[in-house]
Amino acid sequence: TLPLAPRMSRIQASATAAAMARAAAARAEGRDVISLTTGEPDFDTPAHIQEAAIAAMRSGQTRYTAVDGTGELKDAIIAKFARENGLTFTHDEIIASTGAKQVIFNAILATISAGDEVIVPTPAWVSYPDIVKLAGGTPVLLPCGPETGFKPTAEAIAALITPATRAIMLNSPCNPTGAVLSGAELRAIGALLVDRPDILVIADDIYEHIRYTDEPFATFAATCPELAEQCLTVNGVSKAYAMTGWRLGYGAGPAPLIRAMRVLQSQSTTNPNTIAQAAAVAALNGPFDCVEQQRQAFHRRRDRLLQALGNCPGLTLYRPDGAFYLFIGISNALGGRYATEAAFVDALLEQENLAVVGGEGFGASPYIRLSFAASDSELEEAAARLNRFCADL
Ligand code: PLP
Repeated sequence: TLPLAPRMSRIQASATAAAMARAAAARAEGRDVISLTTGEPDFDTPAHIQEAAIAAMRSGQTRYTAVDGTGELKDAIIAKFARENGLTFTHDEIIASTGAKQVIFNAILATISAGDEVIVPTPAWVSYPDIVKLAGGTPVLLPCGPETGFKPTAEAIAALITPATRAIMLNSPCNPTGAVLSGAELRAIGALLVDRPDILVIADDIYEHIRYTDEPFATFAATCPELAEQCLTVNGVSKAYAMTGWRLGYGAGPAPLIRAMRVLQSQSTTNPNTIAQAAAVAALNGPFDCVEQQRQAFHRRRDRLLQALGNCPGLTLYRPDGAFYLFIGISNALGGRYATEAAFVDALLEQENLAVVGGEGFGASPYIRLSFAASDSELEEAAARLNRFCADL
């Protein structure tokens, strides 16, 4: 057999991808499966964005571009940060990549090596710890429970900072919990870093526009401008503009870091898809009502789903302030028919044809994550199935 590199033993396939694949396999057997596993809007990409992509292809925008993105796209990204976040960037402080995921991948690979620690508040998006491990670094998980609204406190982060700490991951709104960090909470975290210019803050803002409170959005670089030189702000068009498949994300931060990320990208994927770049220009420069309409739909679905599951035995519900997931505690559902989170998740798929992701993949157990980026009728049926399942624990 062909030997694989030792680094492959340090990482796993993403838990969400695995859950999606199981749901797809069950569906391929002809079963009527509802899958609430995916983290993607169920809407189509708005028409004006699709048209921009078609026009780009027809006008010959089908070749390589600059590795870190076209000038036009960088202008649109710079304008977005100025308009929405009050942040000022120049072209050499911006990189466009194949999804926000590649931005994070580039940043970690460019900064983290063996012996380096990266603080990752959990529950967390499945990919953060594995990307750190791939770089040879050590993810230092910080469990955040319901008592803090699943948020990392400055005190808890302070207790984990060591001389080896090189980065802190912040994700607000958070996948999977929907927790949103306030300006005051970000400032308290920033206060820990005044004498640690060697620690990078990666602010993953991909769910910025999917929030359900009136609080203004706070991002680290704008909240702690004195620390902007050690912050990478990550965002993209996937979630806000229903463009997950286009694979276009971007990062903004200090020029030396962005330069390193560009070098790395030049030796891996080169520029992000040229046509997707043109589409992203249309998204970022275009009307905002499509984003707002989706947000309202997610808001309505969140409330309906919470209501539909309100009396479900065994479930502990939390109301997310952002993103499009319910992260549901199931400790009260275990101990009868089902001993473990995995048994619960498997039985839910086997008996009720409802696919969800277990919390373990996000570093918190026993929980399940339900995506409410699904149609109203699917969500209604999913709630009925979950209620029926839990009536017989
Ligand atoms: N960050 C978080 C927290 C996510 O949930 C996701 C997608 O699920 C991403 C980043 C990746 O986004 P993109 O599709 O732009 O790569």
